[in-house]
Amino acid sequence: MDFSTYLKNYPTKDGYFGKYGGAYLPPQLVPAMKDITDAYLTICHSSQFINELRRIRREFQGRPTPVYHCETLSRRLGGKTQIYLKREDLNHTGAHKLNHCMGEGLLAKFMGKKRIIAETGAGQHGVAVATAAAFFGLDCTVYMGAVDVAKQAPNVARMKVLGTKVVSVTEGQQTLKEAVDAAFADYLENYKDTIYAIGSVVGPHPFPMMVRDFQYVVGEEARAQFKEMTGFLPDVITACVGGGSNSIGFFLPFINDPVEIVGVEPLGRGTKLGDHAASMTYGSEGVMHGFNSIMLKDENGEPAPVYSIASGLDYQSVGPEHAFLRELGRVKYESATDREAVNAFFKLSRYEGIIPALESSHAVAYAMRRAKEMDGGSILVNLSGRGDKDLDYVIEKYGYGDDFADFD
Ligand SMILES: *Cc1c(COP(=O)(O)O)cnc(C)c1O
Repeated sequence: MDFSTYLKNYPTKDGYFGKYGGAYLPPQLVPAMKDITDAYLTICHSSQFINELRRIRREFQGRPTPVYHCETLSRRLGGKTQIYLKREDLNHTGAHKLNHCMGEGLLAKFMGKKRIIAETGAGQHGVAVATAAAFFGLDCTVYMGAVDVAKQAPNVARMKVLGTKVVSVTEGQQTLKEAVDAAFADYLENYKDTIYAIGSVVGPHPFPMMVRDFQYVVGEEARAQFKEMTGFLPDVITACVGGGSNSIGFFLPFINDPVEIVGVEPLGRGTKLGDHAASMTYGSEGVMHGFNSIMLKDENGEPAPVYSIASGLDYQSVGPEHAFLRELGRVKYESATDREAVNAFFKLSRYEGIIPALESSHAVAYAMRRAKEMDGGSILVNLSGRGDKDLDYVIEKYGYGDDFADFD
C-alpha cells in the first residue's frame, strides 16, 4: 500500500479507520460530538489556532523536546545497534499527555466553552487536564474512583493546587470505569458549556483523530531531529501502547518511510486473561466507550479485567487507528512483561541518568531486546514520560535495582 495519502484519507468523514473507530453514542450526545467535530475541522486550519498552539508548545511546554543517543546503554547491549530516545519526559508536567490536553483546552477556548471535565485513573491525565484548565482559565472537574484517590495522593494534590475540583467516585469498584460513567453523566447534563477531554486516541469520533493530530508533533520533531543528528532515518521506531496516543503521534510522521514500526503492549505478570493488558495481542473486535476496535473480553463478551505494573497502560481496548494499522500490516505489536519493564527502568536510570515512567520502560525493554538481535542499525524509542511518579512503588517492590545488575 502507498502511504503517501494515508493522512488525507483516514479517518473517513464518519471517523472510521477501515472498520474500526466510529461514534457509538447515546442519541443526546450526537449533536455535541458533531459540534466538536465541526469546530475542530474549521479551527485546525486557522492560522490563529495554529500559531497560538505553536506559541504554547514553545513557551509553556518547552518544545521541541530533544532526541538523545544512549551511548552507554547501547554499548552495554553489545554496541552494534544504537538506541536513541525522543525525550517526551522533558515536556512540561513530565509526559506527552500535555500535548493533546493543551490542544483540547485551546479548542474549548475557541468554542467558547467555560468548563472542561475528564476522568482519570492514576491521575496522569487528570493532572494534564488540570494544567491546561489553569492555563486557559477554564473551570475543571476531574472524576476519579475513590480507590484511586487514596492510592494516588500526589496527583490528587497536584490537581487541587492547580485549581481543579476532584470528585471521588464511590460507586461500584470505585476505580476508572466508575469514574468514566460519572464523567459521562456530567457531560450529558452539561455539554452546552462543557468540553470532555479524552485522555488518549480512544472514545468516539472525533477524539481519536484530534488527539492523534495534537500528538503528531512528537514524531514530526523526532524525524527531523534524528535526520539532522545522524544523516539517516532510524531502522526501527518503537513506543508503548496503552490507549495509543504517544505511539500514534510518534509513528505517523514515519508512515511513508522505510522504517519498521513497533508498538509495545504490557504483558504484566503473564499471558493469562486478567494478568496483562495486551489487547492487540490477545483481544478481538468489539465496541466499548463509544468506538469499535480490538479489546480484551471476558467469557460474557464484557470488557475483561486487565493488569499492568504501569497504570497508564492497563486499558482493555486500544485506539482504532492502531487496529487498522496492524490490519494494513504497517505496524507490528509486541509486548513486554512487568519484569522486563522494571529491568529497563533500572538500566536506563543507571546507565544514562534518566528515570523513565514504567509505561515508557516497556518500549525501552523492547528496544533492549531487539538491539541484541539486530546486526547494527538504530532504534528510536519514544520515552513518553518520566518516572518520578513510579519511584515509591518500584522501590517498595524491587528495592534500588541491585537484583537487576546482571539481568538484561
Ligand atoms: C498515559 C501514559 C501512557 C499511555 O497512554 P497512551 O495513550 O498509550 O500514550 C504512556 N506513557 C505515559 C508516561 C503515560 O502517562
